[in-house]
Amino acid sequence: MSKNGFVSLVGAGPGDADLMTVKAVRLLQQADVVVYDRLVSADILSLIPTGVSRISVGKEVGKHCVPQEQINEIIVNLAKAGRKVVRLKGGDPYMFGRGGEEVQALNAQQIDFEVVPGITAASGCSSYSGIPLTHRGMSRRVQFLTGHFIDNEPLDLNWQSIADPHSTIVIYMGLSNLPLAIHSLIDAGLPASTPAAAVQNGTTKSQRRVIARLDQLSDAIHQKQMKAPVIVIIGEVVSLADELDWFQQSLKEGQPEELIGANLNESSLNQSSLREQAK
Ligand code: SAH
Repeated sequence: MSKNGFVSLVGAGPGDADLMTVKAVRLLQQADVVVYDRLVSADILSLIPTGVSRISVGKEVGKHCVPQEQINEIIVNLAKAGRKVVRLKGGDPYMFGRGGEEVQALNAQQIDFEVVPGITAASGCSSYSGIPLTHRGMSRRVQFLTGHFIDNEPLDLNWQSIADPHSTIVIYMGLSNLPLAIHSLIDAGLPASTPAAAVQNGTTKSQRRVIARLDQLSDAIHQKQMKAPVIVIIGEVVSLADELDWFQQSLKEGQPEELIGANLNESSLNQSSLREQAK
C-alpha cells in the first residue's frame, strides 16, 4: 500500500438517505474526510459521524462554487496527505456527475480509488413519482439527456433521433434550456400532446411533481416556481403517474401536486388498448 491515501468516489443517490447503498454508508463511517456537493441532502450528511471532516464544494448547475479543477485538486491533495477520502456525489457519480474527470485526475497522480454507484435521479424520481422509465407497449428505449452543456454552448443534439414517441426521454439539468429542448422535440415530430413530468427534489419529503402536455410543461413549471434540482421525464409512461403513485400522495398537505393540461390526448390516457397490443 502506497503512503498515499485512498479516494472512494461514492454515489449518494437522489436524496432519500435510505436509498444509499450499504457500501456508501460503510465508507462514510470509515472516512477521514468527506468532500461533498450541494446536491447531497442534509439527511445524507447526517450519516457522517461527528469527528469526520467535511468539505463542501457546493457544486450546482451553472454555478460551480468551486471549479471542477479545484475540486480535483482538493481530492488529490487530501489523498496525497494520506487521508481516506470519500468524494460524495449526488445520484450516481458517472451520470452527468463529472465523476470520470475526477478519476482521471486521481489516475494522473497515481492515487488509488474506487467508484461506488448510486441511484441516479432518473431512477429515484421514476420510482417516487409513479413513472416507470419503461413500460411494455409504451416505451422501448430510455434516453438520458443533459440540458446543460459545457460553457453553455447551444443544445446541439440530434433531435430527430431523440424525438421517438416509443421512448422515454429524461432530461437532467434541463430547467434553463427546457423551452428550447421542448421546441426542438416538437419540431422534430414528437407530438405536442405527449405526457411530460417535472419532478423537483425527488425522493425527499419536499418532492413536487408537475404533469402536463409537453407543450405546456414549461409554463406549468414556471407557474409552480420549480427550482433545481428538477428532472424532466417525457413520454407515454408519464400517463401512468397517478395509477402507479405511492409516494407523492403520501406527502403532507401543503405540497400538493398539480395536474396541468389535464386533457392529455386520448391515446395518452387510453392505455388499455396499448397494453393489449403489448401482450
Ligand atoms: N449524478 C447525478 C446527476 C447530477 S446532474 C445523478 O446521477 O442523479 C444534476 C441534475 O440531476 C439536476 O439538475 C437534476 O436534473 C437531477 N437531479 C439530481 N437529484 C435530483 C432530485 N432529487 N430530484 C430531481 N432531480 C434531481
